[in-house]
Amino acid sequence: MSLPNPQPQSPLLTTPYDIRLSILSLILPTNIHLHQHSKHLSFSVCTGHTSADTSSPGKERLWGLTYLHPGDSDADLQARMRRYGRRLQSTWGPHWRCEEDVVRRREGEWGWDGVAGTCKSLYADVWDYIAHAGNLHVTDMTTLRLVLDGKGFLHVGNAFQHVKSLDITLVLPKNVFVAMGGEENTLISEAEQDQAATWMRSGPALASLKQLRKLNVWLDHNSRDYWWHLDESAILSPLVSLANNPSIELTVQLPNQANDDTPISPFAIERRARQENWVDIDDNGRTTMVHKLQFPIMRELEEFLAEDTGEVVSDAQERLLWRRGVDVEEAWRAVQRELNDGSYPQNAGGLG
Ligand SMILES: [Zn+2]
Repeated sequence: MSLPNPQPQSPLLTTPYDIRLSILSLILPTNIHLHQHSKHLSFSVCTGHTSADTSSPGKERLWGLTYLHPGDSDADLQARMRRYGRRLQSTWGPHWRCEEDVVRRREGEWGWDGVAGTCKSLYADVWDYIAHAGNLHVTDMTTLRLVLDGKGFLHVGNAFQHVKSLDITLVLPKNVFVAMGGEENTLISEAEQDQAATWMRSGPALASLKQLRKLNVWLDHNSRDYWWHLDESAILSPLVSLANNPSIELTVQLPNQANDDTPISPFAIERRARQENWVDIDDNGRTTMVHKLQFPIMRELEEFLAEDTGEVVSDAQERLLWRRGVDVEEAWRAVQRELNDGSYPQNAGGLG
């Protein structure tokens, strides 16, 4: 590693350190994504547009896509579906728009990290500023490993030992979460085992960040399979010491599932609905949409029947069904088919 050049001719780089960081704070974002590019860490701005559609999670990813009109060709439809499908499969989860920004930038648009490329001294200042002042977002396990190991930097040491606010968003293969639960399964690949091991080792590394005051963890898998039956206690176990640290404001966000009324000490978990739309791509590259409901589902039935038992009662009834082994999604589909056949309500007992 070579040392930064002094750059004595630069007015910016010859000003005192705290003034240089103040100047950088005026031109750089504070909400920042970290990601690996060409074996080193790069950064980009977080757009902050991460809200899901409340009536149909995933629908918001149609944002900006051209609406189809009568007479549009099948090719138009497929192009739109492919774009929507890529967004639904984004490993950046709710930060899918931030990922699109990075892809555009790599295709030639100017990015904030261009500031850091000006010279070695400015590079060091920029990373110092980011680690101290920024709310940092990490959306993949490779980058998380680089950040926690203090690697991936050019010309500077581990700037992230000073990080104050960290946001970890991970959309991983379901098998990675299965492996975190300690399940031995020959279907779990070595790469998936490796990701699980990285996560399970992350607790002590996160706890060693002495200036960390805010940590947000958002987890999901990339399968339309239910989130249910994963060992959430094991998945969260690396975070126990952080949850017990009064100096750290820890937020954990997990998908809804039928057993999520059972507390997992010491965590106060925020639950959210999973996305309902998924894509299938056949051997010819043709994309089709698949709609898959996940707990809670019966609120929709209640709405349809114009009944008003309330979400708490409705969810409690549905939890019992799932725990009795009923696939409520399948049962609800059966009810819908019966409704379409005109046989409802005589045969509407399928949910029981
Ligand atoms: Zn973002």
